[in-house]
Amino acid sequence: MAINYKQCINCESKNTLNLLYGMPTDDASKQAKEGKFKLGGCCVIVGGPEYCCNVCESEWNKEQAIDAAYEKIIGLNAYVGGFFGASYNVDLDLISGSAAWSHWENGEEVASECKALKETTVKKLIEELKIINFLNWKREYIEPGVLDGTSWSVELIREGRNLKRSGANKFPEEWDDFCKLVRRMTGKRFS
Ligand SMILES: [Zn+2]
Repeated sequence: MAINYKQCINCESKNTLNLLYGMPTDDASKQAKEGKFKLGGCCVIVGGPEYCCNVCESEWNKEQAIDAAYEKIIGLNAYVGGFFGASYNVDLDLISGSAAWSHWENGEEVASECKALKETTVKKLIEELKIINFLNWKREYIEPGVLDGTSWSVELIREGRNLKRSGANKFPEEWDDFCKLVRRMTGKRFS
């Protein structure tokens, strides 16, 4: 799991607590006093905050934590290719709004292209990565016992920490959708 819901979405502190709703039992009151969690009040608020920060007093819920994690994305590098033969590299820069694509054959670049991305396209990309569930992909997908075939890697450039996912002959469920998305961004082949 790449998203730490409990990390403060405002100051990034990990000094945070779960909010507990409802009429607290004696035991819950005691634990709240000990600082194990915070009481959110008697009424359960639908879509209300689930966590609070001891440092900056922000409150948020899971959905907001997911949004915050995706909004930190500022770039994406992706690679797919055979151990021999054709491979493709894509480099999306969401700050300057550019998409660089290159095609390699046996270790040599044979074609490349760079195009500008519109701001609306960049926003859409982040939305689509959320749908593809990228931040919950496993770190590695390996099919054991296969020595050639297709390998791939995707690195998300984020404020703070980059995230890398990779694999060989094995792919996350959403891989085809991801390739489609990359093709749409670059207008070029990627698979
Ligand atoms: Zn905070």
